[in-house]
Amino acid sequence: MTEFDLIRQFFTHPLRHTVLGVGDDAALMQPRAGKIIAVSSDMLVAGRHFFPHTDPYRLGRKTLTVNLSDMAAMGAEPRWVTLSAAIPSADIQWIKPFAQGFFDEAQAHNVDWVGGDTTSGPLNLAVTIIGEVTAHQALRRDTAQLDDDIWVSGTLGDAAMGLAILNHLLRLPSEDQAFCVGRLEQPTARVSLGLRLAGVAHAAIDLSDGLVADLGHILSASGVGADLYLEQLPMSSVLKNCSYSGQVREAMLNGGDDYELCFTASPDAAEQVLAAANLAQTPVTQIGKVVSTLGTRVLDANGDRVIVKRQGFDHFAEQSAQQQ
Ligand code: ADP
Ligand code: MG
Repeated sequence: MTEFDLIRQFFTHPLRHTVLGVGDDAALMQPRAGKIIAVSSDMLVAGRHFFPHTDPYRLGRKTLTVNLSDMAAMGAEPRWVTLSAAIPSADIQWIKPFAQGFFDEAQAHNVDWVGGDTTSGPLNLAVTIIGEVTAHQALRRDTAQLDDDIWVSGTLGDAAMGLAILNHLLRLPSEDQAFCVGRLEQPTARVSLGLRLAGVAHAAIDLSDGLVADLGHILSASGVGADLYLEQLPMSSVLKNCSYSGQVREAMLNGGDDYELCFTASPDAAEQVLAAANLAQTPVTQIGKVVSTLGTRVLDANGDRVIVKRQGFDHFAEQSAQQQ
C-alpha cells in the first residue's frame, strides 16, 4: 500500500465546514465573523507519551482529545485539525482502528480533519488543532486576579493511578483498575465547559502535568499565588475507597494526564460558573483562592499548611516522568 493509498483510504473524510480539505497543497478554511483563531500543536511519541502497545482505537481518540483539551483551556471552539504521523510500517491492523478513533473523536466534536503529513519512521503523532474564540473572551494564563476562586472540573488523580497500575506499581480490584486505566487512556476533553467559561472565568489551563505544576503556570504568568484546600480536591469514588491515601494525595496534586480544566473566576461569578458547569454537564469544584503570596500553599481542613512530600511515590514519579 502506498502513502497515497493510505491517505485516501484512512485519512480522508467528509468535511462539514471547510472550503478545501485533504488532497491539495494546503487546506482552506474560513473563520466565522467576529472570531479570532486559536492554534495549538502537540506531539505524542511512542514510549514517552503512551505505551507502544496501547489499543490503537483508544490511542487515536486520545491523540485528538489532548488537543481538544487545549482548545477547551482557551475557551475556544475546536474547528479543524491536521495529523502528521510517522508510522513504522503500513500495518493496516493498526492504522485502521487508529484513524477510526481519531475520526470518531473529531466527529463527536464537529471538527473537520483537513490534512496532515504521512511518513514512515518511529511511531510519532503530531497534531495541530485550530479553533475559534470570540476576541477578548479567550481564557489566558496571565489573567488570574487577586481573590479569584480557583476551580477544577471532574476528579483529580485517576489517570496517575491508572499509570501506576500499568507500571505494575499498584493493584486495585479489577473494576477500579479498569476505571483508572480508562481515565488515562480515554480522557474527556472539557470542550463544552471551556466554551461556556469564556467571558466568565478569568484564567484557565488544562491539567496535563498535574494540578500544582499546571496551576503554577497560571500563577507565575499572572504574578500571584494560591491557597489550595486539600479536603476540597474532587476525588472519584474509586480513589476515595482506595487504601493508599498517600499515593492518592500525591496523584491528585502532582499526577498528570487528567485533562481536567483548572480555572480562576471572581467570587461574584460563582453562580455563573456553576450554571456553565450545569449546562456542560461537567462537575466543577472550588478548590482554593488566588492570594498575593507567591507560590502554592496546600492547606488542610484546619487551615494548617501541609508539606506535600513525594514520600513513597518515588517509583511512581520516575515512571511518570518517563511516560509524560
Ligand atoms: P505535500 O507533498 O504537498 O506535502 P502530501 O503528499 O504530503 O502533500 O499530502 C497529500 C495530501 O494528503 C495533502 O493534502 C495532505 O494534507 C494530506 N495528508 C497527508 N497525510 C495526512 C494525514 N495523516 N491526515 C490527513 N491528511 C493527510
Ligand atoms: Mg507532505
